[in-house]
Amino acid sequence: MRSLLHLVFAFALVPFGVFSQELPSHQQIEELVDQHAAEYVQTSKAIWQYAELGYHEEKSSALLQQDLKEAGFRIDAGVADEPTAFIATYGQGKPVIGILGEFDALPGLSQAAVPDRSPITAGAPGHGCGHNLLGSGAALAAVALKEYMEKNHVAGTLRYYGTPAEEGGDGKVYMIRAGLFRDVDVVLHWHPASRNAVTNGGMLAITAAKFRFHGTAAHAASAPERGRSALDAVMLMGNGIEFLREHVPSNTRIHYIISNGGAAPNIVPDDAELYLYARNPSQATLEGIWERIVKIGQGAALMTETTLDVKIVSSADNILPNDALAKLEQHNFEEVGGIHYDAEEEHFAKELQQSLPSGGPSDLDSTAVIERLRPFDSNEPSASTDVGDVSWNVPTIGFTAATFVPGVAAHTWQAAACAGMSIGQKGMLVAARVLAITGADLFSNPRLIQEAEADFQRKLKGQTYKSEIPPGQKPPLDYRESR
Ligand SMILES: [Zn+2]
Ligand SMILES: [Zn+2]
Repeated sequence: MRSLLHLVFAFALVPFGVFSQELPSHQQIEELVDQHAAEYVQTSKAIWQYAELGYHEEKSSALLQQDLKEAGFRIDAGVADEPTAFIATYGQGKPVIGILGEFDALPGLSQAAVPDRSPITAGAPGHGCGHNLLGSGAALAAVALKEYMEKNHVAGTLRYYGTPAEEGGDGKVYMIRAGLFRDVDVVLHWHPASRNAVTNGGMLAITAAKFRFHGTAAHAASAPERGRSALDAVMLMGNGIEFLREHVPSNTRIHYIISNGGAAPNIVPDDAELYLYARNPSQATLEGIWERIVKIGQGAALMTETTLDVKIVSSADNILPNDALAKLEQHNFEEVGGIHYDAEEEHFAKELQQSLPSGGPSDLDSTAVIERLRPFDSNEPSASTDVGDVSWNVPTIGFTAATFVPGVAAHTWQAAACAGMSIGQKGMLVAARVLAITGADLFSNPRLIQEAEADFQRKLKGQTYKSEIPPGQKPPLDYRESR
């Protein structure tokens, strides 16, 4: 009875591609990753040194384009009206698999690859989100996968998407609008972090806008009755938001700054601005909250007899999960495994951890562990990314690899330090392996792509992709200058 059951199970599993004899040689792919590893570690170091802000990643983008061109990819540069966006393509026809690459840095996080706060140039940008590793690791995966396809006569199209300005510039949203993802079957991505885990969905939908109030200037002492204060409107709006906070779902995040509060105390401000972000795990819920935020702005204008302009600066969707792809990627991630630190890295990590608040995660062995696959918990703290928009257009799956010392959060100098040395680079090589073998599985098993598409449709539940960015708006190439 038992052996008969085994037989039945064996037959039942065969059609699921990844577990059958159709499995492509993961070993061959991992060897190809190893062959090019040193080269792409160098690329990641160069981009870490360039540390260019969103839409200004000229050198970083050019270097990745050059690497991929030399590896035999065709390059389309400056796509979607974004001078630093590009697509590198190999092969032709179906299926089409895309791998996302980011390479922008963050302002103010310049940091040497040492375990204490030590900017290379004070106030300059740094790779506190590890996008130097993200873009280089994704390129390494693409090159290994391309060579694998060539050697094994695998049909299909492989694309590397060079996507600028992830940090608030929504580079991918404009690439979607330009139709650059229209024919893609599956998109793969990864992100540096302090843990190894497949991220099946999650992240927060976000809308960010500048609420600019216009009033009437007047002498603040001799003729205040003739003035109408735009700053009053900003402050009333802020107060309104604080009252709103109690009456929105508790996993909502609303944060703002006064980006212009007037020119001088003795002039009634005729121009003032509140710059506000709102986020929620659901794009649909966020839409409802956003309408109420705009009403608060309008109410503030009414109370102060000022006028209001709302300019949407940025918007990204939450990430749509894909269970079929998550299962495949989890399998591959466990096969590749995590990383162990050598003695020198352990020393670096322990010293770096001294700079962190106590009580956070600190177990260095956790970098060897691949966390179990679990559904996204919408109450878990999270952030936002324009990968979300891609996931509403194409079946998409991603993961985080341990490139930062346990306990280190992204957007910190500690993360920038890790991204410029061997701990980050080791994590990047893990990521490249997982991306490359997952890509090979998808190219070799049409059934996996069908399952991914079927789950994509199930998760959409008839909803369609929406972005709060007004139609026709151009990429905000200068968003870093104007804040
Ligand atoms: Zn970031
Ligand atoms: Zn990031």
